[in-house]
Amino acid sequence: MSYKIIWKGNSNTNKSTRRGHAPHMIVNHITEGSAKSTISWFTSSGNTVSSAHFLVTKSGEIYQFVKIEDNAWANGVSADNRKFATASIVKEKGVNPNWYSVSIEHEGIYRMTRGKLTDKQLKATIWLHRYIIDYVEKKWNIEIPIDRKHILGHYEIDPRRKPNCPGEKYPFDQVIQVLNNKETFTDIKGHWAEQYINQVALQGIMSGYPNGDFKPDEKVSRAELATVIARLLNKEV
Ligand SMILES: [Zn+2]
Repeated sequence: MSYKIIWKGNSNTNKSTRRGHAPHMIVNHITEGSAKSTISWFTSSGNTVSSAHFLVTKSGEIYQFVKIEDNAWANGVSADNRKFATASIVKEKGVNPNWYSVSIEHEGIYRMTRGKLTDKQLKATIWLHRYIIDYVEKKWNIEIPIDRKHILGHYEIDPRRKPNCPGEKYPFDQVIQVLNNKETFTDIKGHWAEQYINQVALQGIMSGYPNGDFKPDEKVSRAELATVIARLLNKEV
């Protein structure tokens, strides 16, 4: 599935140059408000403090406010606060994290979702991560490694002020797993149930075989069915 990125940035949107730095990490955020209010805030003349490159809504739409070439005002921390960062890359780089990051806002309110995404939002943000990685590789010839050191949450950069951004239920592992595999399984392309198999795999309900197969037409044993039901029972929806 492909997505259309909808440009929403305007002359009020906060941005600056990367001061010669290139993107080296993707930072994930939660909006703490509706997509509508985020769009309004990131395009308002009254906002002189913040912005982000992208916004992924609960229904899976992707909006862009700042070009990847430019610096969004999403996760800047002063030199004083940088020492509290738990992300090793922040310590290694030693400059404003905005200069070398691409930021994605996710529509949601922490006390309601704890950072959990809707299915559509998860699929869209995975696609967007891939898009950003490909874009950076083409433009700067830099490959952002697909791991937790380079795909981060705001809380790892600014733990004192943003401990709940994007929230402990943000699916970092799923995002990274799918990006690394590119496809969930090796033997489901074109199968009539491909999209359903991807859905249960992304949600952690069913897994495949160690060699990357799913074996879509294999019989299910009672033990496997019990595992699936137990995972469903343990799931918060
Ligand atoms: Zn944030």
